[in-house]
Amino acid sequence: MSVSPVPASRQPGTVERSVTVIGLGPMGQAMAGAYLDAGHAVTLWNRTAARADELVARGAVLAPDARAAVAANEVVVLSLTDYDAVFAVLAAAEGALAGKVIVNLSSDTPARAREAARWLAARGAGQLTGGVQSPPSGIGRAESSTFYSGPAELFRRHRETLEVLTGADYRGDDPGLAQLYYQIQMDLFWTSLLGYLHATAVAEAHGISAEEFLPYASSTAASMPDFLAFYAPRIATGFHEGDVDRLAMGLASAEHVLHTVEAAGVDGSLPALLVETFRRGVEAGHGESSATSLIGLFKGV
Ligand code: NDP
Repeated sequence: MSVSPVPASRQPGTVERSVTVIGLGPMGQAMAGAYLDAGHAVTLWNRTAARADELVARGAVLAPDARAAVAANEVVVLSLTDYDAVFAVLAAAEGALAGKVIVNLSSDTPARAREAARWLAARGAGQLTGGVQSPPSGIGRAESSTFYSGPAELFRRHRETLEVLTGADYRGDDPGLAQLYYQIQMDLFWTSLLGYLHATAVAEAHGISAEEFLPYASSTAASMPDFLAFYAPRIATGFHEGDVDRLAMGLASAEHVLHTVEAAGVDGSLPALLVETFRRGVEAGHGESSATSLIGLFKGV
């Protein structure tokens, strides 16, 4: 047996083969499992210890406390509910943080990600912020993607370790950026999903099943990339000339939707918000402009 005074993870040209994962909700469990599958030595800690049982049976080591878990490896992956949980865990591990790379994959606001990065830097640790764009079932798959931000050198050095979890999309130095990209994607995702669910409720109220509606809903969703590709360069240059997408026409259309919804006895608060938004745009003098002029309204400019 050869014994090296330098841990394998620190030897030049080698990939880290050991990580700590803290937080074993569905996401943290999937992440720890992906590292085990990839042959890494995995140290775990979770507030509720029993959630580590299956992973320990597969070879992971459960640390007695958060401090010991952080001390065990240079790279520490956090998968916690939010940054209140992050600070609760990190405060308990404060003395072990110097020299560590905290891969913070917990969701919260960009401001809180920046706050945590500053707090960690003051204790000699670096933070790579991550926004995971995948459910737990997508962990361990290269086609899934996670936004990362933070020190470029840390990202470069640990990229292969991060890519055990998902593909890695580095957005820049600002530790808030990964959360910002993640949250704007969630803004788009949730509002789109809500639109689909609402339209399905109206369909079902008329005896049209979700499966019957599916190809039509899919067709509308599939048309969106063309709209986005058309609008993005116009938005970027502030060009909001209206055509078939005039806001006044959008308002009339939204009112037809609202009346159809109300006639079906379905909750109309979502299309009412649509009507109200379009009406504000028209009242602000953008009736003949493209619907994209609403961006100025949203930003309050
Ligand atoms: P959960 O909220 O189910 O679990 C997160 C973990 O946080 C649990 O292990 C929980 O411990 C721990 N925790 C919560 N509060 C504290 C605290 N005060 N002190 C110590 N530990 C605490 O989240 P998920 O596993 O679903 O997700 C983890 C993160 O990933 C979240 O930020 C989520 O938004 C994000 N995410 C999740 C996705 C998903 O599909 N699940 C998709 C993309 C991102 P305990 O077991 O003791 O309760």
